[in-house]
Amino acid sequence: MPRPEKNRTILQPPLMKGFKPFGIPRCKLEAVTLTFEEYESIRLVNYENLQQKEAADLMNVSRPTLTRIYNKALTTITKAFVEGKAIVIEGGNYELSNDWYRCGKCHKLIEADNADVKCENTEDCSTNELINLNK
Ligand SMILES: [Zn+2]
Repeated sequence: MPRPEKNRTILQPPLMKGFKPFGIPRCKLEAVTLTFEEYESIRLVNYENLQQKEAADLMNVSRPTLTRIYNKALTTITKAFVEGKAIVIEGGNYELSNDWYRCGKCHKLIEADNADVKCENTEDCSTNELINLNK
């Protein structure tokens, strides 16, 4: 029986829900899924320029696990890039280090101490319909 996977720590969730290529008709557009921990591995290694060992420590996983997550992320992004697919960033096996919400209306990413916060992204978006990204 495989061991249950422990949650990977995410320091900062993605700003957006995903990416769409342009030049591909909507009716032909297919999507691939990038998990939150796959996104975080790319952010830490390629954006923050950390060594994989450092990224593994921050995400609370072993170095081989980080490498596996990272390689899967690269494969998924490459497939989307080459085949013209959308990337949906969702799901995974993670916990966020802080409380993060996404506005249900304009999708802005908000870090907050409690769910009483409102989105103040634009004048016409003051909704309090926030989606808790902490599962
Ligand atoms: Zn909003």
